[in-house]
Formats: sequence, C-alpha cells, structure tokens
Amino acid sequence: MFNKILIANRGEIACRVIRTAHRLGIRCVAIYSEADANAMHVAMADEAVCVGPAPSKDSYLKMDTILEVAKQTGAQAIHPGYGFLSENAPFVQKCQEADIVFIGPPASAIEAMGSKSAAKRIMEEANVPLVPGYHGEDQDPALLKRHSDEMGYPVLLKATAGGGGKGMRVVWAADEFDSALDAAKREAMNGFADDTMLVEKYLTKPRHVEIQVFCDKHGNSVYLAERDCSVQRRHQKVVEEAPAPGMSDELRKAMGEAAVRAAEAIGYEGAGTVEFLLDEDGSFYFMEMNTRLQVEHPVTELITGQDLVEWQLKAASGQTLPLSQDEVQINGHAVEVRIYAEDPDNDFLPATGKLEYLRTPEENRYVRVDTGVREGDEVSIYYDPMIAKLIVWDENRDRAMQRMSQALTEYRIAGMKTNTHFLKRLIDNSAFRAAELDTGFIEKHEEDLFSGHGGSHSANPLALAALYTLLKQGQQRQAEAVHSHDTTSPWHQFNGWRLNEEPALAVRFKVGDEEKSVQVNWLNQGFRLSVDGHIVIADGKLEDDVLKASFNGHNRNAFVAELEGHITVFTDQGAFECQWLHPDLDNHEFEEEGG
Ligand code: ADP
Repeated sequence: MFNKILIANRGEIACRVIRTAHRLGIRCVAIYSEADANAMHVAMADEAVCVGPAPSKDSYLKMDTILEVAKQTGAQAIHPGYGFLSENAPFVQKCQEADIVFIGPPASAIEAMGSKSAAKRIMEEANVPLVPGYHGEDQDPALLKRHSDEMGYPVLLKATAGGGGKGMRVVWAADEFDSALDAAKREAMNGFADDTMLVEKYLTKPRHVEIQVFCDKHGNSVYLAERDCSVQRRHQKVVEEAPAPGMSDELRKAMGEAAVRAAEAIGYEGAGTVEFLLDEDGSFYFMEMNTRLQVEHPVTELITGQDLVEWQLKAASGQTLPLSQDEVQINGHAVEVRIYAEDPDNDFLPATGKLEYLRTPEENRYVRVDTGVREGDEVSIYYDPMIAKLIVWDENRDRAMQRMSQALTEYRIAGMKTNTHFLKRLIDNSAFRAAELDTGFIEKHEEDLFSGHGGSHSANPLALAALYTLLKQGQQRQAEAVHSHDTTSPWHQFNGWRLNEEPALAVRFKVGDEEKSVQVNWLNQGFRLSVDGHIVIADGKLEDDVLKASFNGHNRNAFVAELEGHITVFTDQGAFECQWLHPDLDNHEFEEEGG
C-alpha cells in the first residue's frame, strides 16, 4: 500500500478521497488553484501545493506541473477523482513514464472507451448487447439516413467523441433527418473538434441503469450491483439510487456479467462503471463505460458496506480485490441527490456567491454528506457549482425516501439560490415514490416539480418572517436598553409602537419584486398578525437561528438566517426569502430626497 498520494482534484471528491486515505494511514498531498487557497480540501490535506491561477486549464489540468509536485513531495500515486484528468489517457501515460502510479485504469482502457463507436465495436465482439444502430466509419449522410429509415424513427444521432449530452439529437421523422444531422455535426465540431456520428434506435421510455465494476491487476473482476440514475435533466443525473427499483436477481446477474465482460474486453483495472439503457421490456443495452470513480458511487457503498476508494487504493497498489463475486452482498436502499448552487425556477441558471449560512443534517448511519465547502466559502464561476452530495440509507426504498425528504429540509443554505427545494419536491412526488422512473421523468412531471414559490408559501413563511423580525428587534432593543439609554437608537421606535395601545404597526417586506406588509397588534402575550387577509395569533422565542413559533396555538420550529435584513426562513416547505424594509429606511430616503 502507498504511504503518500497526491489528489489531482478539488471539492468534495478530493475531500472524500482524503478521508479514506487518512483512515488507511496514507498521507495526502493536495493541489490547488489560486482561487482555492482556503478551500476545504487544502485544509484537510497533509501538504498542499498551489499549481496555478483559477481557470482549470491553468491549474487542475496542468499535467506536467502536477507530476512535478508529485515528484517533489514524494507521492507514490495520483488519485484523479472524477472530471479534470480522470479520463485523460495522455496523463496516464505521463504518470507511467514518471514512475508514479495512476489510481485508475491503464491508458489503453481509457482510449478504448474514448470513442463511442469504437467502444461499441469492442462491446459487440465481447457479446455485450448494444442498442440497434449503425456505428461504422463510413459517414456518408445518405448511408446514415438509410440506416435510420430501416430502423424506423425515432432515432438518436450521437457524436462519437461526445459527452455530457452534447452533440446528441433525437430525430422523430425522416424529413427531419438532414437538418438534425447538420445541427448535431455542428455541435460536435464545436465541442469536440470531431463530427463523426453514430445512429441508434431512440428508446422512448428507457431507464438509465449502470453497473459498478472493479478489476484488480491479477485478473479478478466483480460487479457491485447497480445504480438507477434515470432521473435526469438534459441528460445530467439529478437523483441516483441503489438498488434499481424492481430489479430482479436474474437481471442483475445478466447485467452484472455483461458489465464484467465489457471491462475484461478492454483489460480494465480499478473502478469503472458500465452504463446501460434498460427498456420497458427488460432488454438492456450498453451505452458507455466511464473509466473512473463516479460521482454517485456512495449509493453503492451504502448498500454494499464497502469503501470504493479503499478498493481503488488497494487495486492500484497491486492487492487483490477485497471480495469475490459471491461475497458481495446488498442490503437496504440508498439514494443520493446532488445539491447545486443553481436556480431551478430560472432554467437552472448556475449561481455563485458566498455560503453565508450553511447548516447540514447530522451525519449518522443513515445520513451522509459528501462536501468540499464550509460556511463562508465561495462558490465561484471557475468550477462546477455542486455544493454537496446528500446520501441517505435505510432498510427499504420508502423509508430511504422519507429520510431523504427530511434530510433535505435540514439542509439549509442562505446566500445563494440552490436546488434543495426542487429536490425535495422531486423526492416527495408521488410518481417518484411509486418508482415510475424513466429518463423523461422531470419533463413529464414538470408542472408538479416547478410550481415556483407562490402556492404553498403564501401566508405562513411571511408570518414567520414577521414574527422573527419582531422578536429579533425586541431582543436588540432589550440589549440596547441594558447598555445605554440612547433614545435616538433606530430601535427606539419599537418601544414607541409597543406603548401605543392602538398600534397597528406594519412590518413590510419585499418578496421578489412585490412589497408585502404584515399588520401587527401587540397583545399581552405575543402578537396579532394580519397576513394576506388572515389573522393569526402569534408568539414565540428566538434562540440563535431557531425560531420557536406558535401560530394560533400550534407550535412549530423554523430556522432563520439573516444578513442585513435579507431574511431566509427555512420550513419543511423549503426556503423562503424576503427583504425586511427597515422602517428607518424610508426616513433616510425622505431626508435624501428632501435635502
Ligand atoms: P453522454 O456521453 O453525452 O453523457 P450518453 O451516451 O451517456 O451520452 O447518453 C446520455 C443520456 O442520453 C442517457 O443517460 C440517456 O438518458 C440518453 N440516451 C442515450 N442513448 C439513448 C437512446 N438510444 N435512447 C434513448 N435515450 C438515450
């Protein structure tokens, strides 16, 4: 086993790898860009070296610099994580030349899977089922069209060099073929400088089911069950779970053995994932093999009780696989969601900014948080805006989903838009709970998943925000009263309002572009609030960020993050944001206008 490794990555996966390495007594060297000097992975590592400016091409992708750092620090091996250099055959070659172990497959295996059409030819020979289609070298448009006509529409055009859903076009009918081919070729040329295409039958309701495989240097290969990643948005995974709902033992065995054949056909070593499309009739077809550790590997870890990074380190250092196929057991159900800084209500526009307030669910045997950021960290424009992976395990799917729903309400972030509320709606969706899964799930259930923040959020969170503001000002006024008798304090007004017996103060907020006002009357105990025409008797206590609220005698807790009047209220309905319009603000404006 290695004594010291370098991690050629950042964020959650770098932290994830360090955790296992440290548990095994392996020292870790981190690399970082100038933007990441204070990043979590740097703080966790035993040593860290800056490899260049923020853009990845100047830092995390600098092969020679990274190898130089590995040599200087005496690292025996490099873990590439996912993304960056993880599937870069020339880098693997360079590691070999520098006599540093690449924790992953040989360069030849990466190359074999680099082209979707070449990979298909290898898989065909290895007797791995393929989606019917054409993946030959002759690229004559008329020939491609003839194959499509023969197969029948819809068909899918795919760039052989493609990835991340780019260079793909569905063709629904023969008369759309030519323009779709042009468009796909153009996108492929722009994206990958290669416009070679393949055509395959487009399955209309497939599931994405992938098999985790592992191979050592001694010819042993095993599969560690499957993951269902059917819930996707623009061909990007959003929810991943294991095992796949409804998977029979026979199908698992058939798919697992096909995946192992795929890996063996290319002389694979280490962790790999063979992706399949699973059709409604139980037929499955090879899609591609990812020659690295996948983002969603934790769900496999939770159902098998294995640490896949440990397996990677063992395999790379020449040890045999920890388990044989017969010894691989699966237990319970695991689900992962990817928490992103993005705005689901605005076409998932990536968000950036500072994580001003960050609370995560407590980790235990059911809940796991894989993250690379802490409160106060920035999500910058330079890298993937993933904040964390939230992974949950329980005895069965229903319980795991229930737990996930709860864990999502405990994941509280203020300071930027995130997808946590969208994820919760997804997890709570009845069709999702019933495991009615296929890759079109999100599109099909769009209306339920994206109803904005209006409906369920109308009165209650605003009342909570008002109660919070009143309690908070009360606290501050009390504190100030202790320290001074300064009657010019802006909070002095609260005093005035309170003494006034027919007070009807309005606490005003900006919610989106709208101004909302909550009428307040003080009672002997608590307040009477009038919110959107509803009267509630409100009372409560504020303990740090916990708002213990009582509305009409119904007690419930909410959490509140505030930054200069910008209030985020977290309830089990999600996060509600508003801006408190400070009563003095108007005066200032008035003064400015007047003066
Ligand atoms: P990429 O490498 O760009 O991610 P993939 O070949 O892995 O492309 O396909 C990505 C996604 O596209 C799959 O997860 C699936 O949802 C969809 N897809 C791919 N091939 C087909 C097909 N033949 N029929 C239907 N959907 C497909």
